[in-house]
Amino acid sequence: MKSCEEVGIYSEKHTPGEGVTTDELLALVDDLNRRNEIDGILVQLPLPAGVDSKKVLLAVDPAKDVDGFHPMNVGFLSTQRPGLVPCTPAGIMEMLARSGIKLAGQEAVVIGRSDIVGKPMAMLLLNVNATVTVCHSKTRDLAEVCRRADILVAAIGRAGLVNRDFVRPGATVIDVGMNRVTDPEEFRRLFPRSPKREETFKAKGSVLVGDVHPEVAEIAGAITPVPGGVGPLTIAMLMSNTVKAAKMRRGNFTAAAD
Ligand code: NAP
Repeated sequence: MKSCEEVGIYSEKHTPGEGVTTDELLALVDDLNRRNEIDGILVQLPLPAGVDSKKVLLAVDPAKDVDGFHPMNVGFLSTQRPGLVPCTPAGIMEMLARSGIKLAGQEAVVIGRSDIVGKPMAMLLLNVNATVTVCHSKTRDLAEVCRRADILVAAIGRAGLVNRDFVRPGATVIDVGMNRVTDPEEFRRLFPRSPKREETFKAKGSVLVGDVHPEVAEIAGAITPVPGGVGPLTIAMLMSNTVKAAKMRRGNFTAAAD
């Protein structure tokens, strides 16, 4: 809502109580689908226990699905048709393009296969002719597979799992992970020689860490920081998707492709 206000997009927030039912949420989504002045709908997950989240997400009009989670938008992405693309991977593509990182013909490895990040990320990289490998918790020899990467995307949810053994020197590393570390021992494993940072950690009781170990910055060709890297871009892309949805709903496909 803050970002909407900053860029001049009208927004409203609906926060039904914990006891809300699936049918009540479906009625709310239906109402937003019908309102012509609404161009984007974002269903903030997780929904209260007992609500059928998949059913609610499926009810969002694909033309207003600014999260890009609706199966119709997933299909558009995988068949390279204009549609709404999930914000985090779309933001990463924007960042790679603006940083002049070559993608066509490059080896890209994505760790994580979630519908929100890993899968759409892999599809976007494939669509620009990278050679893409998708890894997950059952992948054998994860570090070895990752060392093949010219572009390595970590979307796992495990603080500092990707250490220097995973990274070929010079590779581009995108750290999607956002993990709050509260254990002092875990903190010292990640930041062994950072007395100043340790002071802040002690004062605050926690620190936000990515999936990539800080030591990787010493060998990567380019790397995104956590915090301040992928996170803010996700919000920017949500704004961008909303404008795109508004244009597409009014038949302006050329502008929507910009
Ligand atoms: P998720 O749905 O939990 O998916 C995690 C993926 O990582 C799964 O595919 C899982 O494999 C894989 N994985 C877990 N442990 C692994 C291991 N030890 N080795 C290899 N793969 C492993 O998470 P998500 O929603 O994609 O999010 C991932 C991270 O990104 C989280 O830290 C989240 O907070 C962060 N995130 C950040 C942003 C942002 O704006 N910066 C946006 C979204 C998410 P399986 O499929 O086999 O279980």
